[in-house]
Amino acid sequence: MAKQQEEPVEVQLPPVKLTPMGAPDKQQDQANLIAAKQSPAYPIANGLLAHCLSRNGERVMLDFTAQGVAVRFEIDGVWMNGEPLDRQSGDAALAIFKQIANLNVQDRRSRQDGKFGAEFGGGKFIAEFTSQGVKTGERVVIKFKPKKPKFKKIEELGMRDKIRQRFKEQIDADSGMIVISAPAGGGLSTTWNLALETADRLMRDFVATEDKDNKEDEVINVNPQYYDRAAGQSPADILPQMILKEPDVLVVAELTNAETVQLLCEQINKFEKLAVTKVNAKEASEALLKVFAYKGPAAELAKAVTAVLNVRLLRRLCDQCKQSFQPPPQLLQKLGIPAGRVQVLYQEYKPPPPEELVDEKGNPIILPICQKCGGIGYAGRIGLFELLVVDDQIRAVLASQPNLETIKRVAKASGHRTIQEEGILQVAQGVTSISELQRALKQ
Ligand SMILES: [Zn+2]
Repeated sequence: MAKQQEEPVEVQLPPVKLTPMGAPDKQQDQANLIAAKQSPAYPIANGLLAHCLSRNGERVMLDFTAQGVAVRFEIDGVWMNGEPLDRQSGDAALAIFKQIANLNVQDRRSRQDGKFGAEFGGGKFIAEFTSQGVKTGERVVIKFKPKKPKFKKIEELGMRDKIRQRFKEQIDADSGMIVISAPAGGGLSTTWNLALETADRLMRDFVATEDKDNKEDEVINVNPQYYDRAAGQSPADILPQMILKEPDVLVVAELTNAETVQLLCEQINKFEKLAVTKVNAKEASEALLKVFAYKGPAAELAKAVTAVLNVRLLRRLCDQCKQSFQPPPQLLQKLGIPAGRVQVLYQEYKPPPPEELVDEKGNPIILPICQKCGGIGYAGRIGLFELLVVDDQIRAVLASQPNLETIKRVAKASGHRTIQEEGILQVAQGVTSISELQRALKQ
């Protein structure tokens, strides 16, 4: 309980409403919740979740070692250290999570997966719980999945109007292959859904192939059919049947193999269909190479592919506490921002040095913590969108000996704006900081 006194911020947070899940029946679920609530550590367990959710965090991680329990929160894609817990409080909190997910409280070694419901600040979440014994003790991750998606339209993720218009032209075209890409763990599924939402799905028939063990979120008017990847199947096993109905758009969540690529190329080049797919990649040019790496027919694929939309997520500066500064001319020059274009840039809030934080009598002054970002300096995320429209020059490179440098060089010559340049636009507009852009680009 001492922990709560040390961190007054936690006490002010409203509790998270927890819903037990995973038991064979409702009575058992309720009994689990009642037992959990009777634990003296219930406020600690609840406070960990509240802390994360109050910052719009995505995950809580607990690392149990002999010495204690390290606590970390993932907020806007960045892991932040929380106050560590002593082992006794940590063990008791963990028992609560396992109990409400109907898992084995005693088992500290096997991997256990479960879930429970969490409601906070008007938002409803499914908390996906995983625990796994490791050499040093046990690692626990609780991941919050919002029941309603955070973003409804791709503009809300920060796509500029111009790019949106150009992307819409591509995804509303009759024929071609659109590739959606993002780094691993960097928002690919969100972007995938929002990109499909952008497409006109009223006048065209969409069909989708998905692995039955990796189902995508539902998109209205896109009808998924499933293959069993674990049993050795690929989209190529179910596409021929689907194609018989002559759909306009083939949505293939994962290309998987050369046969699938070949099937799509044939549909695009011979029958003028549109295909949409996705890959993990750091930039648009890399996404193209990944699609070619499936070893489909290169010449056919070069002809088929029409555009890549790549996204990189980065944190927005907190608009309540961001600090402006006058950038020296050398910095603007380095960023490629024309002189006179911007007067100020912004950086995350940094408190004055401790020696300045004293009153006239020399007593320390406690500055209030920003309510919006909790002192992190960032709140929410924005996507940097790179749209590479494949023209004849790029096509020629792709058909011969595609490599990253050549694709980039040719794309640049056609006036393509890179992800870095998109990022600098956001820095110039005060949406994010230079240090955050550097961090995000390094990933
Ligand atoms: Zn703030």
